[in-house]
Amino acid sequence: MTTGHPRPGPGRRGGHLAVVDPATGESFDEAPDQRPEELDAAVERAHEAWRGWRADPDARRDALLAAADAVEEAAPGLAPLLTREQGKPVTEAYAEVARTAARLRYFAELDAGTQPITDGRPVRSELRWRPLGPVAAIVPWNFPLQLASAKFAPALAAGNTMVLKPSPHTPLATRLLGSVLSGALPEGVLTIVTGREPLGARLVSHPGIRHVTFTGSVATGREAAAGAAASLARVTLELGGNDAAVLLDDADVEEIADRLFWAAFRNCGQVCMAVKRVYAPVRHYTRVVEALADRARTTVVGPGLAPDTRLGPVGNASQLARVERYTARALADGARAVAGGHRLDRPGYFFAPTVLADVPPDSPVVTEEQFGPVLPVLPYRTLDEAVRAANGTGFGLGGSVWGTDVDRAAAVADRLECGTAWINHHAELSLAQPFTGVKDSGVGVAGGPWGLYGNLAPFVVHRPEEA
Ligand code: NAD
Repeated sequence: MTTGHPRPGPGRRGGHLAVVDPATGESFDEAPDQRPEELDAAVERAHEAWRGWRADPDARRDALLAAADAVEEAAPGLAPLLTREQGKPVTEAYAEVARTAARLRYFAELDAGTQPITDGRPVRSELRWRPLGPVAAIVPWNFPLQLASAKFAPALAAGNTMVLKPSPHTPLATRLLGSVLSGALPEGVLTIVTGREPLGARLVSHPGIRHVTFTGSVATGREAAAGAAASLARVTLELGGNDAAVLLDDADVEEIADRLFWAAFRNCGQVCMAVKRVYAPVRHYTRVVEALADRARTTVVGPGLAPDTRLGPVGNASQLARVERYTARALADGARAVAGGHRLDRPGYFFAPTVLADVPPDSPVVTEEQFGPVLPVLPYRTLDEAVRAANGTGFGLGGSVWGTDVDRAAAVADRLECGTAWINHHAELSLAQPFTGVKDSGVGVAGGPWGLYGNLAPFVVHRPEEA
C-alpha cells in the first residue's frame, strides 16, 4: 500500500506494473500491482483519518498550503519523472507540477461558508456544508498530476479524505507526489493505490466510499458510475471530448493559426478539451489546411527530455495503435494527409503531427475521440451547417469560434452544445471557473467553488425565529 510512505514490505505477494517510457518503448521502472486487501485497508484508513481531518478547518488550510509548498520544492524530481512515464516535454511537466501547487493553494483558501435561507416564513433556516466522507478518485494518463490535484485539492479542502488511483500507464509521478504530500498531510488523508484492473472497479464500488470522482473515457465512466451505484455514492464524471473549432469567414487565418494549432496538438493532442475537429468556410479552406499543415511539418518532435522538443511521443502503445487505426481508416475513407499520416521511423511511440483534409464527415476520426496528434479539417458552406456539424456528436465538453468580429463569434458560440466555449482561443481554464461537460462528456461540475460544493453535502438547520 502506498500511503504517501511507500513501503512494499518484505515478502509482499502482489505483482508489479512495468512502466514504459513512451520515448523508447522500453520499460524503465515498476509500481506495485496492489491486492484487494490493500485497497480495503486504504479505505479503512481513509475512514479513520476522516474524523480528525473534518474537524478542524484551520488545520486543514495550513496543511494544504504546506502541501503546495512541498509540491513546488519537489518539482525537480516530479517533472522529469512525469515526462519519463508520460512523454510530454519537460517544460510542460514543470507547468503541470506548478498547476498542482496552485490548485492546492486555491482550494485551501476557499470557504463554503453558511447561507441564510429567507422565504418570508417566521423561521430561521441556515444552510451549512458538510464533507461527505472518503472519496474515490480515478485518474487517466494524459495529465496525471494535474488531474489528480483536480480531485484531491477540492475534496480534501472540503474536509473529505481520499483514495486515489492513477492510470497503470503513469503511476510513478503520482506515487512520488503522494510521498511528497505525506510530509504535510496526516496519515490516511490521501492514499495512492496503484495496480491494474479490477483495482479501479473495486475502488469505485467499495461500500466505504461516499463520492466517486472519475476522469477518463466515456465508456469507462459508464462502468465507474454503474460500480458506484452499488453503494449509491455520489458520482462526478469528467469524460471525453471531441471539441470543434468553427472558423468564421472573417477569421484572420495567419493571426490565429499558431493558437489553433497548439489548441489541437498540445500534449500530442491528448487533452480532453483539445480541438479535435476544425470547420472552415469553403473560401478559406485551402489556406486553413495549409497554415495548420505548415506548423505540423515544422514542429520539433522528440523525447520530452530533449530541450528543443515541442511535441513528445504518444503516451502508450495502445494509444498509438488507436491513433494509427483512426488515421488509416480516414485515409481509406478518402481523406488526404496534408502533413504526417504515419508513425515516425524511430524507437518509441512517435506519430508525425497529422493534418487531414477532405475527410468524410462520418469518418470515425471526426465522429469519435481519437485523442492523438491528428486533426481533421472540414469545409462548410453555411454557418447553420457548421453549427449542426459541431453539435453533431455525442460529446459536449468544449468548443470554440474564431473570427474578427468578436460579438458575432460570441453569438455563434452561444449555439454550441458544450460546457465551455472560447472565442479566438481554446482550452484555457482558470482555477476559479466551473468545468463541466454536457451530453456524454460529463456529470457534475469541477473547478472553482462549484468543485468544492461538489464534495460537500448541504445541511440545513431550521429553527423558529426568535421573538
Ligand atoms: P480510461 O477510461 O481508459 O481510463 C481512465 C482510468 O479508469 C484509468 O485510471 C483506468 O485504469 C481506470 N479504469 C479502467 N477500468 C475501470 C473501471 N471498470 N472502473 C474504474 N476505473 C477504471 O481513459 P484513459 O485512456 O486513461 O484517458 C483518456 C480519456 O480521458 C479520454 O477520453 C479523455 O478525453 C478523458 N479525459 C477527460 C478529462 C476531463 O476532464 N473531461 C480530462 C482528461 C482526460
